[in-house]
This record gives sequence, structure tokens and C-alpha cells, in this order.
Amino acid sequence: MQLSVWTYEGPPHIGAMRVATGMRDVHYLLHAPQGDTYADLLFTMIERRGKRPPVTYTTFQARDLGKDTAELFQSAARDAVARFQPAAMLVGASCTAELIQDDPAGMAQAMRLDIPVIPLELPSYSRKENWGASETFYQIVRALAVGDSSRPAPCQAGSPRPKANLLGPSALGFRHRDDIVEIAKILTALGVEINVTAPLGASAADIARIGEADFNIVLYPEIADTAARWLERQFRQPFTKTIPIGHGATIDFIHEVARLAGVDPAPALDMAEARMPWWSRSVDSTYLTGKRVFIFGDATHAIAAARVARDELGFVVCGLGCYNREFARDLRAAAAEHGVEPLITDDHLEVEEAIAAAHPELVLGTQMERHIAKRLSIPCAVISAPVHVQDFPARHSPQMGFEGANVLFDSWVHPLVMGLEEHLLTMFRDDFEFHDGAGASHLHASAPKAVPLPDQGGARGGCEPQGEPATAAAANPPPTPPLAGRGAMEGELLERTLWTAEAEAELKKIPFFVRGKARRNTERFAEERGLTTISLETLYDAKAHYAR
Ligand code: SF4
Repeated sequence: MQLSVWTYEGPPHIGAMRVATGMRDVHYLLHAPQGDTYADLLFTMIERRGKRPPVTYTTFQARDLGKDTAELFQSAARDAVARFQPAAMLVGASCTAELIQDDPAGMAQAMRLDIPVIPLELPSYSRKENWGASETFYQIVRALAVGDSSRPAPCQAGSPRPKANLLGPSALGFRHRDDIVEIAKILTALGVEINVTAPLGASAADIARIGEADFNIVLYPEIADTAARWLERQFRQPFTKTIPIGHGATIDFIHEVARLAGVDPAPALDMAEARMPWWSRSVDSTYLTGKRVFIFGDATHAIAAARVARDELGFVVCGLGCYNREFARDLRAAAAEHGVEPLITDDHLEVEEAIAAAHPELVLGTQMERHIAKRLSIPCAVISAPVHVQDFPARHSPQMGFEGANVLFDSWVHPLVMGLEEHLLTMFRDDFEFHDGAGASHLHASAPKAVPLPDQGGARGGCEPQGEPATAAAANPPPTPPLAGRGAMEGELLERTLWTAEAEAELKKIPFFVRGKARRNTERFAEERGLTTISLETLYDAKAHYAR
């Protein structure tokens, strides 16, 4: 048993639903208890699809367990085929159905339906959503792809128009809809034809001709890596390894695709709409340099974001992690490159602890990190699933390609206090309207506040900051009590050390965006020396100590 309040991923049958829902004429028969139809809402409400997912649930109830649930399954299969007339059908079980061991695959095969039936073995108690999507896509490709496995090597320069498959986009994918538009633009510029995009938008017949492409473009390894490896073995199709998130990675991606296609990369490299490099070099962005950023998400988006943060925005990556263990090796390699400890966990409390300990000035994460950052009063932007409805926007909002890089720049910089305001806040601390506790003035009232001052009634015990302005704070603040909202590590230290009013006042002179780090360093310095009070002298000694 594991106590879980939030989960980063759903059970694997949700991954299978994402693949089936993304496709056009594939139906999914899911042996599942009454109530599992909640999953429809992921697609009709969060992704706002205009029709139900192509899923038939057997919806067995407690009273059915005393009877023949196999008969229930088979009549649901007959009804689904008659009503939806799919070109192929997936059959599988949800978590509860897995326990009653009805063997959906065997039951469906015994029915001898006249369409391909693809059985799914998705172990719900050991695997999760992304794995379920990957396994489902792989099984579909294995079952339906036809072609010559002894075909010649991929096309070379001068051959007829090269063809590529785009693999990985699915229903309920974070910005998948818009990413494929950007990648299609690049391929058009390169003169590369898209053979099949799958699973999103593909039919069973499209999958059948997937082997006709010269190579594969893997956009989301979490979903497409297994299928791409099989296609490489089966049809000698090489596949891309670069994820085109960020300006630099997009350029690398164009070179990689051009090499595989045997074409000149120049037309795609010349695409005009890349504003991000100039935006981040412009003098207005100077204040971004060295900002500490904590990054967490699925491995693909987290690793890509770390590269963009360091190489294109000048941030310092102070934490890097992912929740999907299947890609832990890649994440570890990226963390080593950035000089940070990798964080591989699906426990949001562990993530919260790591963020609190790292004292970042910006968090890039999932919807979970948005909640965590809110509690810790740290600005945050979303870079990866799981996401809420607002991250399925109406407007074009890719993450990939040159336009994706523009979107990243805008959305990551937006939560931060702007340069001029940051400068003024360090000069005029006691303004009634613009002060450390008020947060960025370009954001609405409930936006994350700058690191709160203890005498301002800032965030405590995980609540929203809601204190009075700095001017109303006591002129001679008392020693600071422990603050639960600052994270376990700091809380423990504070319980054993007390700041004098003089030292606390001096701490306030440090710019708010690095004040948390200064506080933590000083407390650690005091802790290591067994000091129970932090005086002005301790603060200066700690500063000198860490400056060495
Ligand atoms: S079968 Fe699985 S997905 Fe369905 S309600 Fe039970 S635990 Fe949730």
C-alpha cells in the first residue's frame, strides 16, 4: 500500500484510452466496474473533445460477480462491433477487472470477430498511464503494420521525396495538437513528406502502411519509443532522438531529420519566426541570468526544459526530476550534466520537500508543482502533463519548433517579477503598494508572492500569503517563530534557532528573490556551529563563509 493524495499518472488503461481516442476507427472494449466511465471526462472536459471516447465499458456491478461476467463481456463486444463498426478493436481490463481474471483476450478471440482484435496486457498494479499508452501503441503497430521487412536501407540524397512518420502524439497529450503543426512546417520546408502521424489522427489503414516511410520522427518517447524500436528492427526505419523543444534543440532536430532524409537543412533553418534567441539576448532579459529554477515533469519535457533554461535563458538549474521511472536513466544523465541530484519519484510530497530545500526562484513543472509552488510562494510555469483544462488552450500554443520556443520564453518569464520592478523593490522596500509581500504587479492579486517576510504574516502552514503590507509590520519585529510553509528542512532548523530582530531586519535588506537562500544558508551555518540565536554577526559570518 502507498498513501497517495495526488498521482502524476493514471492507471495504464487510461494510456490505452489516450491511444484509442486519438485514432479514428479503433474501438476499445474495457472490462471495468461501474463507475470507471469517469475517464470519459478527461477527454470531453479537459481536452474538450466534441464526442465520447471510442470506449465500451462492461460496467459490471457487485451483483454481476456472482454470475457469468464473461457473458457480460462477450455481449458488450458484440454490441460494440455492431454499433460502432470499427476497423480494429482493443480489448483489455481495468484494475478491478484484472483481479477477477476473466481473460478478455481469450474471450474476444473465442468470439471470432471479423475485425482484428488486439489484446492488451496492462498490469495495473505495477505500471502506469504512459507505459499503458506506449504498450498499446506498440501492440497496434505490431498487429496492423504490413510491409517488407527486407526492404532496402532508408533513402539517400537525391532519392524521390523522402517520407517520415510522426510518432507519439495522442489524445490528452500536453500540447500535442499544436506541436505536430510546428513539426509539419519544418518538414514541409525540408521537403519531407509525412507518411503517417500516429496515434493521433491515424486510422487502422494508416497504421497498416506505416512501414512505407523512410524513417520515423519520435516526438514523445514515453508513447512512441517502443513502437519505433520495433519498426527499426522490422522495417529498417531509423528514428530521431532529438526532441525539438527549445531553439537549440529545434536546430539540432532539423539537422538530424535532414541527415536521415538526405536533404539540405538550410530551408528549415532559415524559418523566420524564431524570436526567442533575440528576446533572451535583449537587455531586458539580463536580469534573468542566474535565476535558480527547479524543473519536474515527465522525463522528456523536464530534460528539454533544463537545456532551454540553462542555454537559452541563462537560468541555473537547481533541481531536475521526473515521475516516470521508465526514463530514469535519461533523467540521471541530464541531471549529471547540470550538476544536480536527479529526483525520480512519483510522490508529490518528496517533490515538495526537494523544491523547498532548493529555494528556487522559479518552478517549471506539472499541475502538481503549480500547487506546490503556490504553497511555497514561488513563481511557476507548467511544462508537462498532468495538466488542468487551462493547458488545453484554444489558441495555438506549441512547445516544439521555433514557435514553441517563442511560447516557452513568454510563459516561463511571465510569472517572474519584471526587471524594473525587481530593481525598485530592492531600493524602496517600504512602499505601501509595491513591496516584497505584494507579488509581481503585472499578475493578479492571488498570484504567487515574493518570498514572504516573517513579520508580514506571510505563508504559514501551507496557506496563501495574505499578510499586511510591510509598512504595517512591527517596527521592532520579535524573533521569528518556526514556519511550516517553508519546507521541512528549514522548519527543523528554525525550531532550534531564533533570529534576533536586528538580524531579521538586516536579512530584509537582501533582495527578495535571493533572500530565501540567504536565510537557509545562515540557518545551516548556525546549526553546524550549534548556535541557538542568529545575530547580526552570525548573518555576516555566514555570508563571508559561503562567499569563500
Ligand atoms: S478499476 Fe482502477 S481506475 Fe477504475 S475505479 Fe478502480 S482503481 Fe480506479
